[in-house]
Amino acid sequence: MGTALRPPSSAIATAPSGPPWIWPRAAYIHIPFCAHKCGYCDFASLAGADDQADRYLDALEAEIAMSLDGPQPVDTIFVGGGTPTRLEARQLERLVAILGRWFLLTPGGEWTFEANPGTLDEEKADVLARAGVNRISLGAQSFQPDLLRVLERNHGPDEVARALALVKPRFPRWSLDLIFGVPGSTLEQCERDIAGALEFGPSHLSCYGLVYEKGTSLWKQWQAGQVVAVEEDVERAMYELVIDRLAAAGLGMYEISNYARPGDESRHNLVYWANDAYFGFGLGAARYVEGTRSVNTRDLPAYLRRIEAGQPPGGPSETLDAPGRARETAMLMLRRTILGIDRADYLSRTGYSLDEIGGEAVTRFAREGLLEDDGRRVRLTREGRFLADRVLCEFV
Ligand code: SF4
Repeated sequence: MGTALRPPSSAIATAPSGPPWIWPRAAYIHIPFCAHKCGYCDFASLAGADDQADRYLDALEAEIAMSLDGPQPVDTIFVGGGTPTRLEARQLERLVAILGRWFLLTPGGEWTFEANPGTLDEEKADVLARAGVNRISLGAQSFQPDLLRVLERNHGPDEVARALALVKPRFPRWSLDLIFGVPGSTLEQCERDIAGALEFGPSHLSCYGLVYEKGTSLWKQWQAGQVVAVEEDVERAMYELVIDRLAAAGLGMYEISNYARPGDESRHNLVYWANDAYFGFGLGAARYVEGTRSVNTRDLPAYLRRIEAGQPPGGPSETLDAPGRARETAMLMLRRTILGIDRADYLSRTGYSLDEIGGEAVTRFAREGLLEDDGRRVRLTREGRFLADRVLCEFV
């Protein structure tokens, strides 16, 4: 490509001063390539474009170079997608070298790569481990072939075990993703999936209720009556089962879809739920820097063209006013089921007291039993977790 890269300065650039909700201490990098497009997927991901991967890495490096003054000290790096491990080993080698030059992980920092079963091999795992990646998030989704078929995943349950055999000896931390509420699934199948995941002894699990994202293949099947959504009360029973079974296994719920042993929470995701700032690079990547949210185009040819012409990869951006930011912070913090909103922390981050921003809603939901308020901290109750959407919406 023709874009001249500005090399990182030799000295570590001092990040603009400011607290972590103003200037990022976290970086998200998006790799959009996938072996196959899953039926429920609404992410910026595409199959059949692997021949663009080298060009994409050029563009990614150029985007970072045009956006930053120099290497940035960060506490977390998260490489997601798409399927980052769809890249060939030599491309992964290049990617980690680029990230290593631009993002200086502080000692004890967290560097996560997402991976999918069937895309990781020994060579790729070695590349990541050597580079200092210390956390893998593996998309298992289900351990049952019929549910994997409904989701249009292109791996079988056995491939999770094979991937974990590569992950466990090389990476100190790893997590599995599961989906519940797949059309046609039963409570018993949900139970089997939880048991299947626990057999591997994870210290972190992300468990999402299936969402029919508009425009996806699964959404079209649902609209056409070809698949039937799980009944609401069954879905709730599945969620309760997930919460209770994982708690019994020592994996406490710390966010409405995330569970971990104490100390094994995803530090990167906690950045989002604290409404802290983060960098984002790559196709469709979002960022939140100095109070402005912006998101890159999701169109791969447009992304490549713009960067190669030396232009930013454009997309919508929004800067909320201070009360808007404070409301958004309350909404995000409430997702944290253990931390919730600490009133003093909230005031120091937003400049507003929680009561000024959402006092009426807190009182009302506390009365309804959806929030608990001990005067210092406000959190979702167990019942509030099942109705989280309703509660969170109220704050924005
Ligand atoms: S592997 Fe993940 S990102 Fe890729 S299509 Fe499937 S759900 Fe989407």
